[in-house]
Amino acid sequence: MTNPAEVLGLPKPVWITEDVAMLYDMAHRFLVDEIAPHYDDYEKNEIVDRSAWEKAGAAGLLCASMPEEYGGAGGTFAHESAIIEAIGHVGVDGFGIGLHNAIVAPYILRYGSEEQKKKWLPRMASGELIGAIAMTEPGAGSDLQGVRTRAEKAGNQYRINGSKTFITNGQNANLIVVVTKTDPAKGAKGTSLIVVETDEVEGFQRGRNLDKIGLKANDTSELFFNDVAVPTANLLGAEEGQGFIQLMQQLPQERLMIGTTAIAMAERALAATIDYVKERQAFGQKIIDFQNTQFKLAELKTEITIGRTFYNDCVARHLAGGLDPATASMAKYWLSDLQGRVVDECLQLFGGYGYMNEYPIARMYRDARVQRIYGGTNEIMKLLIARSL
Ligand SMILES: Cc1cc2nc3c(=O)[nH]c(=O)nc-3n(C[C@H](O)[C@H](O)[C@H](O)COP(=O)(O)OP(=O)(O)OC[C@H]3O[C@@H](n4cnc5c(N)ncnc54)[C@H](O)[C@@H]3O)c2cc1C
Repeated sequence: MTNPAEVLGLPKPVWITEDVAMLYDMAHRFLVDEIAPHYDDYEKNEIVDRSAWEKAGAAGLLCASMPEEYGGAGGTFAHESAIIEAIGHVGVDGFGIGLHNAIVAPYILRYGSEEQKKKWLPRMASGELIGAIAMTEPGAGSDLQGVRTRAEKAGNQYRINGSKTFITNGQNANLIVVVTKTDPAKGAKGTSLIVVETDEVEGFQRGRNLDKIGLKANDTSELFFNDVAVPTANLLGAEEGQGFIQLMQQLPQERLMIGTTAIAMAERALAATIDYVKERQAFGQKIIDFQNTQFKLAELKTEITIGRTFYNDCVARHLAGGLDPATASMAKYWLSDLQGRVVDECLQLFGGYGYMNEYPIARMYRDARVQRIYGGTNEIMKLLIARSL
């Protein structure tokens, strides 16, 4: 098969150093050998087995960008990008490592105390703890200021009450960063992030593993907190009320990461389609010999090349500490839109076979759709970009 990582024929950016390239190869091999053979089962069961997480931990794929002293591999976002790209190129997009590594762990590294980092990060790196972040509620999605989950201080504990929905890794997760209100009267300034280790508490319940149109292998779930008591030491940050600022600081990386998934899947869709149209025949010739096919694929290759170049530049800026929120929002919105267009046009070139679940392009079509919705909808991204005008 045409290699998705090489389908554009672009030179590698400087941030793909030798060790980042080696990590990509290693992750790719691991995913092909250990995850892809079971992936249909994970889709059927609507969850990736815990054992897969533990194997990923043993292979060094969890917490790649966490410092070695906390059990990580001491890498950067470039290393996380390599792993997430490998997931997209192999086509096991429901395996929620990206969220665990590049969203949840960074909250603990950035805002956790020394004690919290030592307690949680090594166990996240081994796969003993699987991470989730619980922001969204039935009544608060785009407008996170409307979060109602309440954390009330009682002595040296917080008592948490509320419900969350659409939480990635929601059935597997046993370390959840929960967005709560510690002082509802203060609105955004009364928001705090509190870590719940679910194995250690009472009153925590997992709701439905939600029935989605795509990303079937991910256990996107409802979560309920009924008077869940956690030590006040589980607050992230030195004081209450920092939650909104912490979210705003971390969201650019989350948005860039959605761009990683988008560009990797677009490359995979293009590679798979090039292979297909070179084989399939109609009217006595190969599908690629029709000028329409050539023009469509030429357009897509051009657009993906533009997207990849922009993505590479965003990563370079992020690694240098200079990826501003507006540009991260552009990456999320534009690359996920691109992904949707590419997958749709590619599916068309497969004809009826593209609509059959046994063809990977069909799964890509289903999996791509949510990219324009989660991590802040693309409409919200445009609002954020507009603020920079
Ligand atoms: C598969 C999946 C996984 C997810 N994983 C997580 C997770 O791990 N953790 C988590 O906390 N959340 C997660 N989410 C939730 C996701 O982030 C939210 O669904 C998303 O932010 C949108 O919120 P909402 O669904 O409430 O839509 P709403 O906010 O109700 O939006 C509905 C529509 O209105 C539009 N809209 C809203 N406000 C405006 C505005 N001001 N201007 C213009 N248009 C607007 C939106 O763009 C959208 O089109 C996940 C969702 C899905 C589907």
